[in-house]
Amino acid sequence: MNKKNKKFSTKSIHIGQKPEKLYGSVSLPMYLTSTFKQEEFGEYIYDYSRAGNPTRTNLEENIASLEQGVGAIAFSSGMAAISSIIHLLSSGDEIIFTKNVYGGTYRIMDKIYKNFSIIAHWTDTTDLNGIEKKINNKTKIVFIETPTNPMMEISDIKSIANLCKKHNCLLVVDNTFMSPYNQRPLTLGADIVMHSSTKYLNGHSDVIGGILICNNNKLIEDLRFIQMSVGAVPSPFDCWLIQRSLKTLSVRMKAHNKNAFEIAQLLKNNPKISSIYYPGLSSHLNHSIAKEQQLDPYGNSVFGGMISIDLGSLSAARKFVKKLSIFTLAESLGGVESLVCHPATMTHASIPNEIRQQLGVTDGLVRLSIGIEDLDDLKEDIESAIK
Ligand code: PLP
Repeated sequence: MNKKNKKFSTKSIHIGQKPEKLYGSVSLPMYLTSTFKQEEFGEYIYDYSRAGNPTRTNLEENIASLEQGVGAIAFSSGMAAISSIIHLLSSGDEIIFTKNVYGGTYRIMDKIYKNFSIIAHWTDTTDLNGIEKKINNKTKIVFIETPTNPMMEISDIKSIANLCKKHNCLLVVDNTFMSPYNQRPLTLGADIVMHSSTKYLNGHSDVIGGILICNNNKLIEDLRFIQMSVGAVPSPFDCWLIQRSLKTLSVRMKAHNKNAFEIAQLLKNNPKISSIYYPGLSSHLNHSIAKEQQLDPYGNSVFGGMISIDLGSLSAARKFVKKLSIFTLAESLGGVESLVCHPATMTHASIPNEIRQQLGVTDGLVRLSIGIEDLDDLKEDIESAIK
């Protein structure tokens, strides 16, 4: 049986899961080892766990199959994965980013890589012409986040991929908000898919991790070399936990998608909310492109588990958050438990205030990561807090 031809949920449970030889353990063991015995000089499969580890390989094979890539490289955090992408560049090279990215992505460019003369341009990547205007012969990468964190803007992956091919640069897609269940950017022409696996991939709020997936062996080889040299590797234990979580990615994502869709319907006409950002609403500016490119593995349009709402002021946002009882005020997203976050003081605090205001990350904006609890309980919690 060629498991690689199987459907999404089957692959998420079986790929990379070769039965363990010694005792036939169905759940694969964790290879908690830093080094490996060599029978002969230079004869080995693995030599040292910074370079590779069987538990990590299982995870990488599994996620590569879900994103439909030829390979994947797991990191110790999403930021380590992003940082390794930047290491593909040399000083003087330029990179174009979605203007409204995760705050940490902005910070690493603005505070670290600027000092190495790698030039970042921030632009509205929902506007194809705007991207093309920023491209010049030094542009090596276009890095998009879609949907964006926290404004939920959607960029057209296929059209941007074509633009990148025309100008000979790589397209990187941060797919953290979607997971491969909801969107598979490599199939739309992207070169590298990036995840903070801390979020939906792991899904249980107990691991920090990152992963890159490519459909080009040379890129995999280059990124693996960077990873091995720089050393931002995940522990076998963290790889094992993420791998275990991937087995339930389908069932979790179905529940996140459904709960968030229903909650967005509940909130869309509430007079106490000045704006709602959820790509599943027909009023969302990029709804049609979301409907086209955000597809579950069976071809249905899906809109994810994240909703941002603007309550108009800092004090209204604070009151709302304090009244919630099921949602926990915390950074992060994509776990089974519902979380609420105030981007202006939390995830996006590293972005200067005037830029934040331009992006729409106001003091009244609250981001909801809708978990997989019972929908009625979530609705009741939100409704009573808003009242
Ligand atoms: N990309 C997105 C969209 C994120 O939300 C985050 C973290 O919140 C990151 C990247 C960074 O990932 P990590 O926190 O795992 O380093």
